[in-house]
Amino acid sequence: MHAAMIIRAPAKINLGLTVHQRRPDGFHEISTVMQQLSLSDTILLEPRREQGYSFFCSDPVLSGNDNLVCRAAALLSKKAGPLLPGVKISLYKGIPVAAGLGGGSSDAAAVLKGLNDFWRLGLSTAVLMDLGSQIGSDIPYCLQGGTALARGRGEKITPLPGLPFYWVVLALPPGLSISTGQVYSALDPAQYRHPPLAPLLRALRERQDALLFDWFSRGMTNTLEKAILPLYPRLEGFKSRFSSLGLFPAMSGSGPAFFALTGNLPAARGAVRALQETGNRAFLCWTVSPEQQTKE
Ligand code: ATP
Repeated sequence: MHAAMIIRAPAKINLGLTVHQRRPDGFHEISTVMQQLSLSDTILLEPRREQGYSFFCSDPVLSGNDNLVCRAAALLSKKAGPLLPGVKISLYKGIPVAAGLGGGSSDAAAVLKGLNDFWRLGLSTAVLMDLGSQIGSDIPYCLQGGTALARGRGEKITPLPGLPFYWVVLALPPGLSISTGQVYSALDPAQYRHPPLAPLLRALRERQDALLFDWFSRGMTNTLEKAILPLYPRLEGFKSRFSSLGLFPAMSGSGPAFFALTGNLPAARGAVRALQETGNRAFLCWTVSPEQQTKE
């Protein structure tokens, strides 16, 4: 009998994101540095008598077979062949949905990794990454974890020296739903290639906190933020409010979540409270490395 497993699927933030150009296949060529956070979804894998998998999600809106968790389980079982032990997959959402925090990709990566162990398939991380990239561009990064540079559509991963521990104030305005596709189509080619990631990469490689804070103090770390802010004045107001708390907020992915790093816990707590009091969703979390992720 296989033992039950609990797996954490962490949220990611984009410390920087540059869109280079639109490719002939319709995707955009990007470079982005991603970092995992303590905020996570939780996935439970339990044995069940019947073969195949069943799926439960704490969010009824995400309970269908199009959930990336089901797509990952289906892809892996197709690769592994018949006669796999039955498994009940339960997903408990903790990461805000469609916020630029990569929750769906992280869930899919966690299920690929978890079922590889649960079914004792012994597939390498490289094989899982290849499978994952067929479902979503961020899934290879989620399998790699930690701090990493992603290029191409986001599927070509280069690990970077791990970011030191920081508190992270993470927040998003309520009721603002923005699709990733909508953001990319709002991009003006004149915005391509800005900002270049070189100063961020230098800060990480040289492990210099001062350079890292220089990067965030520029106020624009993500090409998509440039495209989206003029379209959503409410988001611009939210960013100004966040900046007025003495932090340097940056947009994650295609938004609308913003984050700010700080070494100062009381300041982080105060900012979370202030953002919540003005009606926003706000979380106090911290940076994590793959070694810190628990698996039971
Ligand atoms: P994107 O990959 O589009 O940048 P995101 O990081 O902004 O995504 P997600 O929370 O991953 O946001 O959700 C994007 C969409 O994916 C949701 O609107 C939802 O319909 C779909 N989805 C499928 N599976 C999941 C899942 N396990 N968790 C969250 N969303 C999911």
